[in-house]
Amino acid sequence: MKILFDSHTHLNNDTYTEEERAELISEIEESDVAYICDIGFDMPSSRLALSHARLLPWCWCAVGMHPHDSKDMTEEGMEELREMAADPKVVAIGEIGLDFHYDLSPRDTQRYWFRRQIRLANELAMPIVVHSREADREVMDILIEEGAFSERRKASFADGSPHVDIHCYSGSAEFAKEYLKLGAMLGVDGPLTYKNNKKTIAVVETVPLESLLIETDAPYLTPVPYRGKPNKSPYVEYVARKVAEIKGLTYEKVAKATLDNAKNFFGIE
Ligand SMILES: [Zn+2]
Repeated sequence: MKILFDSHTHLNNDTYTEEERAELISEIEESDVAYICDIGFDMPSSRLALSHARLLPWCWCAVGMHPHDSKDMTEEGMEELREMAADPKVVAIGEIGLDFHYDLSPRDTQRYWFRRQIRLANELAMPIVVHSREADREVMDILIEEGAFSERRKASFADGSPHVDIHCYSGSAEFAKEYLKLGAMLGVDGPLTYKNNKKTIAVVETVPLESLLIETDAPYLTPVPYRGKPNKSPYVEYVARKVAEIKGLTYEKVAKATLDNAKNFFGIE
């Protein structure tokens, strides 16, 4: 049954060979996965995500510059993102944000391009996929300051919600409540299945099903029982099963609800 939406994955991962990617595509086609969103993290991966989305009817994509690579962002890059975003298969700007764990780009450079890309998403009335690592409060502050949760932005979507996804949410349940008040969606993935991850389990207990997205972030963050191997979109099933276990719901119910959430979030018919 095609009932899963992997809302954040990297079929565009630059270490795949063409054979590996072709194998992944056929595995997805044979799985319960109905749709994926291939998420750009720099210019080449954004272009590649768009080429996958154009080629594969079940693949949608986001384009954007990850904070790791924001030191390489340019005005020409911004123009190219804008051009790519005009394609109907581009359904979000992302992944964008701040990463103060690795600090691969200077923090001020990360902040600058995060703000610029939020403004682009506002201007184009497009969903935003956010990456936040060890910068939780500042990411939220910047999103608020740049109008990602503003009435004006919300009014540009048919459902009146801001269409902001905090992907791979790793903050506390308390902080999650603040995001819920703002109308954000929270994405959970493999770490939810890891032993002793009480923090993310508490998040899933707190967050209503209608505000949850499930994802793999493949090839990273492989869920149990495949932890230690490369991740892939079909494994999003194990994230759905864990959410179902925590919430006392059936797998089918969680899969279908999060599929509908992702379709609504990305504006897919
Ligand atoms: Zn990612």
